[in-house]
Amino acid sequence: MTARLALGVDLGGTNARAALVDPATGQVVAAHRMPHAERTPGAVVATITAAVAEAARLAGVEAASLATAGVGVAGQCLGRSGMVLNAPNLGWRDVPLGELLAGALGHGVRIVNDLSAAAWGERRFGAARGVDDAALVFVGSGVGAGLILGARLHEGGRGVGGELGHIKVAPRGGTPRRCGCGEWGCLEAYAGGMNLAARLREEAADGKAGAVLAAAGGDPARLSASAVEAAYLLGDPYARELWAEVGELIGTASANLVTLLNPLRLVLGGGVLLGCENLERIVRAHVADRVLRAARRDFEVRRAELGDDAGVVGAALLGGRDDSHAQ
Ligand SMILES: [Zn+2]
Repeated sequence: MTARLALGVDLGGTNARAALVDPATGQVVAAHRMPHAERTPGAVVATITAAVAEAARLAGVEAASLATAGVGVAGQCLGRSGMVLNAPNLGWRDVPLGELLAGALGHGVRIVNDLSAAAWGERRFGAARGVDDAALVFVGSGVGAGLILGARLHEGGRGVGGELGHIKVAPRGGTPRRCGCGEWGCLEAYAGGMNLAARLREEAADGKAGAVLAAAGGDPARLSASAVEAAYLLGDPYARELWAEVGELIGTASANLVTLLNPLRLVLGGGVLLGCENLERIVRAHVADRVLRAARRDFEVRRAELGDDAGVVGAALLGGRDDSHAQ
């Protein structure tokens, strides 16, 4: 009976979270998170293996009884080859994670982009239930999307499908901002939580973001999207201007994604977007206004429902079955 549990892993830059999921209900039966001691592939594989062993112990199953696994990685992954082509927060390029982990765990492992995994989880058990065409737009420390088209996960020819954070936007003239990917003018350079905090520090140092800095307790290290939201709520003009700019960028990019791919559900997720009510409202207003009229038919915007579990649930389902290519 317990052999029916599916293993999903969410691999981020600071930790790995392993979860045993009931594939029939999407319920996380047990989960364990472990920080990376080091980010070398060997050390990360050891961390994942230990997190899996602990999650299995908590669920009361033998780790050896698990037959499949899916791993969501914050980075560019090459479909079924198990290769992680580029994972900036791990400092990885061309790491054969699927092969390394299969060797350590003793069974097959499917590697997938983390937002693709989250989109798959939301589609099966969350906010995109029941639709075959859905897009998840995620704004947290970074910006990205997961795409399900015709009931299949769309990863693109080289695993770049859904990299919404790196479409070029560069608004309002002047020098475009540099993105963590090394390119200039990406959406993530303006809207991602990490880049937003960097911009706030620069502008606070220039004396422009006083109310936001006050909302961060006067500590530049604590400047964040939530400090902008707090200043916005107090009517601060800088915060209002910033949210108008960032909300328009995210909303327009999302609307264009919807016009291009015609999903019937747009799922909004991530700590910055879901943690800042006013930013979310501005994003939604631009989506409502800018999606091509013909693509609005039967189209809905919803908030992600599975939270942190979306990635492990989706990864577990994708690891256990061939859903993304046959349905
Ligand atoms: Zn970029």
